[in-house]
Amino acid sequence: MNLHEYQGKDILASFGVGVQQGIVANNKAEAVTAAKKLTADTGTTWYVVKAQIHAGGRGKGGGVKLAKNLMELETIAEQIIGMQLITPQTPPEGKKVNKVLIAEDVYYSGDSGPEEFYVSVLLNRATGKNMIMYSVEGGMDIEKVAENTPELIFTEEIDPAHGLQSFQARNVAFNLGLRGVAFKGMVKFITALYKAYLGSDASLFEINPVLKTSDDKIIAVDAKVTLDENALFRHKEYAELRDLLEENPTEVEAREVGLNYVALDGNVGCMVNGAGLAMATMDLIKQSGGSPANFLDVGGTADATRVETAFRLILKDLKVEVILVNIFGGIVRCDRVAQGIVDAYKNMGDAIKVPIVVRLQGTNADIAKKLIDESGLNVLSATAFEEAARRVQESL
Ligand code: GDP
Ligand code: MN
Repeated sequence: MNLHEYQGKDILASFGVGVQQGIVANNKAEAVTAAKKLTADTGTTWYVVKAQIHAGGRGKGGGVKLAKNLMELETIAEQIIGMQLITPQTPPEGKKVNKVLIAEDVYYSGDSGPEEFYVSVLLNRATGKNMIMYSVEGGMDIEKVAENTPELIFTEEIDPAHGLQSFQARNVAFNLGLRGVAFKGMVKFITALYKAYLGSDASLFEINPVLKTSDDKIIAVDAKVTLDENALFRHKEYAELRDLLEENPTEVEAREVGLNYVALDGNVGCMVNGAGLAMATMDLIKQSGGSPANFLDVGGTADATRVETAFRLILKDLKVEVILVNIFGGIVRCDRVAQGIVDAYKNMGDAIKVPIVVRLQGTNADIAKKLIDESGLNVLSATAFEEAARRVQESL
């Protein structure tokens, strides 16, 4: 589950990680109230107005702007709230901004200017260990750094048996070229950040930039936080952080009825039982030159109601030109599933306008195939995986 920057910063702060102070606002009036409160709390008179959407690169798209007084703040807030923000990470049409974060300006310069670093915490799936990735080249172009000068990105791998060691936190501060107060500040920052990552059951923290202010404070200026959905049951307090407006509506609907659905870009709708078979099915579609429109695991009970719900979800995506049903009947008998498909199809009247290819394999597969073939519906049956894929291609 992805969070907004302001929510991510709240979690960081709750674990003692230093953050740029800010208050979220839904409209112009709230923005002004927020700014006045920030001035009272922090003394700042300059503010940054930051669009809250689930995508990075907001600065580049005009979604992060500096306001040097309340009048400017009002104008900028009005301009950003409601805008369709296009960044390198949004869909081409952009994302609508519903909220802004009014943050204190932390880029004031003193004897030494502010410095931007990159720090992230994530799971390295290859080694099965969490790692901290960091670079002096923080700011808005970390993707270019990774591509052109990967040697400027450092990592610390954390042994799960020992946790983050203090020498590792010091490594980070040292490799970022810090000394004195800033060095100590970074060690504290990294230690708290890792504690927050574990404590919130996150799967990604990306803090870009981490700022060394001109008076040597180390704070998170941005926060991209992804929480592990499988651990949400341990964090009832985080459930309300989900912003359904930011999510694919069909995925939201699928989750409500207990189906595992992920929207993709292709034109072949997939209905499969079991996550492994669903992935294998998507691979097969790709290999035979097609492109899956979704991942959908209908689970163990593929009865008529469930099949119908699944069909309706798949068909919400207007890109779908054919549906491939690939079910392995182990515990659930294939003839039951076939009957479910036929019943669902009939029940949906003329809602199904695309051909359906069904491959049922396992217990009573032969009876199932007969049921499909004799149904008189626009459903093609197949027994072999490859045959199913070929029929899908022929239907496109
Ligand atoms: P992103 O573009 O979505 O990654 O959004 P960020 O939160 O990282 O902000 C983008 C950029 O805005 C940062 O890299 C900074 O250069 C700038 N920025 C953020 N906070 C401040 C601030 O307090 N003062 C000034 N002057 N610039 C800021
Ligand atoms: Mn950023």
